[in-house]
Amino acid sequence: MKVIDHIRQAKDSLISFEILPPLKGKTINSIYEHLDPLMEFKPAFINVTYHRSEHVFKKKADGTFEKVEVRKRPGTVGICAALMNHYRVDAVPHLICGGFNKRETEDALIDLHFIGVDNVLVLRGDAAKNETVFEPEKGGNSYAIDLLKQVQNLNNGVYLEEDIRDGFRTNFCIGVAGYPEKHFEAPNLQTDLAFLKAKVAAGAEYVVTQMFFDNQKYFDFVKRCRESGITIPIIPGLKPITSKKQLSVIPRTFHVDIPDDLSNEIMNCKTDADVEKVGTEWLLLQSKELKKAGVPVLHYYTLGKPKVIYNAVKEIL
Ligand code: FAD
Repeated sequence: MKVIDHIRQAKDSLISFEILPPLKGKTINSIYEHLDPLMEFKPAFINVTYHRSEHVFKKKADGTFEKVEVRKRPGTVGICAALMNHYRVDAVPHLICGGFNKRETEDALIDLHFIGVDNVLVLRGDAAKNETVFEPEKGGNSYAIDLLKQVQNLNNGVYLEEDIRDGFRTNFCIGVAGYPEKHFEAPNLQTDLAFLKAKVAAGAEYVVTQMFFDNQKYFDFVKRCRESGITIPIIPGLKPITSKKQLSVIPRTFHVDIPDDLSNEIMNCKTDADVEKVGTEWLLLQSKELKKAGVPVLHYYTLGKPKVIYNAVKEIL
């Protein structure tokens, strides 16, 4: 079922989770162990992130180095199939521009359609680890909107091979990313919103936000979106802080602020367990307020911390 239909039919805020594919070498059981307790909350859908490959230098026996390409977290499409089969839940794979040409993307979309996936979250992806700015793959998409248009083409039966006439029309519901604190490359929020609005005009049916730790940032963002004519559902993305290290890692990686109150409380914690407690309580407060405000979905980035998410979500249902 499409995410947008889940939202339309819901009487209250829905719950959804985002997971990462396991590191190469681990089995699908690591995903089930992670998700099993969370399934008690009957998530409407589960997102599975996509990870581009990276270049690493491996030392050879003769002491020289060779540059090899590795994808540390493969398996997004397979995990979606496994989740749908194992839990009977809708899976939402992320699709990225970075590292893929349009043919590979089309093949992935065909695979997703064949296994019964109804939704995709389309993203540009970040710069590769060895690059300072995002470089599209040769023959690939440059921005999320280009990828979105490719999905829409398939939804209209238009394939890259021009000789495919009357091709089967897929029917993907397309989600996109939004940034309450602005995407870090955008000169200002207004410009960022103009690009978001273009994604909506091109067919995006809902937005999932970057994580934020101050709900006011989300409320202000929604208000600005509505004022700019963006009317589709805006799903808040939520993540707990679970270690002191994250106070610097999260702002550096995701370009979001951590409010004074939260960072002070975490700095004053004596043990890891104390940090987790503060992180859980903050997540719970954020979740309660957002639910009260009637958000369509509470979307949790589980990122290896299902217990913390479990403890917060069980308090709000
Ligand atoms: P875009 O919408 O393409 O925007 C990128 C930047 O370009 C923005 O600054 C925007 O303002 C600007 N822009 C947009 N369109 C144009 C245009 N036509 N011309 C000029 N400028 C333009 N990354 C992964 O690698 N894998 C994942 O699974 C993943 N999941 C994510 C899930 C969520 C909910 C979020 C919020 C992010 C996720 N990311 C993921 C990270 C994401 O790929 C990065 O934030 C990336 O830098 C931007 O992606 P985007 O889709 O927002 O890009």
